[in-house]
Amino acid sequence: MAIQLFKAKYEIDECLEEIRKCLEIGWTGLGFKTLEFENAWKEYTGFPFAHYTNSSTIGLNLAVNIMKEEYGWKDGDEIISTPITFVSTNHAILKSNMKPVFADIDDTMCLNPDSVKKCITDKTKAVMYVGMGGNMGNYYEIVSICVENNLKLILDAAHMAGTRFGGTIPGKEADVVVYSFQAVKNLPTADSGMICFKNGELDKIARKKSWLGINKDTYSRTTSLKNYKWRYDVEYVGEKGHGNSIMAAIGIVQLKYLDRDNAYRRQLTKWYLEELRGYEDKIKTVRIEDECESSCHLFQICVDKRDELMVELNAHDIYPGVHYYSNTNYKMYRYAQGTCPYADYVSAHTISLPMNLYMTHKDVDDICNVIKAFLDAVV
Ligand SMILES: *Cc1c(COP(=O)(O)O)cnc(C)c1O
Repeated sequence: MAIQLFKAKYEIDECLEEIRKCLEIGWTGLGFKTLEFENAWKEYTGFPFAHYTNSSTIGLNLAVNIMKEEYGWKDGDEIISTPITFVSTNHAILKSNMKPVFADIDDTMCLNPDSVKKCITDKTKAVMYVGMGGNMGNYYEIVSICVENNLKLILDAAHMAGTRFGGTIPGKEADVVVYSFQAVKNLPTADSGMICFKNGELDKIARKKSWLGINKDTYSRTTSLKNYKWRYDVEYVGEKGHGNSIMAAIGIVQLKYLDRDNAYRRQLTKWYLEELRGYEDKIKTVRIEDECESSCHLFQICVDKRDELMVELNAHDIYPGVHYYSNTNYKMYRYAQGTCPYADYVSAHTISLPMNLYMTHKDVDDICNVIKAFLDAVV
């Protein structure tokens, strides 16, 4: 049977039961399950605020947009970011008419603190940090750099649902943390995300801006007449970006099993590392710090002849992926081409091996045997 890179595993009966509740009461929209999921997420993570969105992409857009407006950032001001990420991360910066300045990554696949320091200019306002594959890299060094240089910190935690550091959910140091619950992420719904601001005022703005800028509170505050409920105020030219109760229903159920599921991902990772032992000269794995309990969203390796190895794996009905092709190869970011040599190396050599909850120890063995045979024969 084919082994896919990703294959979401749902608690099907429980999800259907939660969805049924929405259908029975006749409410699938904003409110009801979205509020329940926000509360469950705050309890799980310990974040003071959480706003449920219809994607992490819109969450990242809102994060940059709101901080720019509230902190008085200008068009052309800079945010330091990584070239090894999904384009949502960097598009969020461009969409606010700001400039992504690309720092290099290191062997954790996350931003290299020394490279970040070198990128700081008078125009730098924030750092956008991606916890690649659920790994935290040198996140706490980046936190210190932001504090020392008075920079805001945005954490793109799309891969980090359930990642812990020293036993707790990291991100309380960041100004905003944005999660993804897209179809293939660790906490899959179909499409949705969560934006968690540190500052409650920004959370309030996010709630308005994710619903066309509508402020539902105005009239309920200023009048006791219930029949004036329709007369809400519109404060911003906002987006249609909030989540809905059907997606939230799935999220509520999947969240209950997130720790169990991530524990199995860590087991798969351990099996991979055991099976690939002895090939350290040919296979580079990602460095993960001891205190980091990664969500293990990805299992990435770097090899020579990456593309040939992918063809070989495909021939054995194994379908890996690549995370990511350096964003500096895309036309809107090409101005930075060649500025991040390690990212370029990763872009050309990395391969994400299958990581899904249907896999067994034998699947990992089979995948590793194909890789080892290929490396023995070719490299
Ligand atoms: C998936 C992903 C996103 C976008 O998430 P959506 O919920 O699909 O919008 C953003 N950043 C990273 C690093 C991702 O992997």
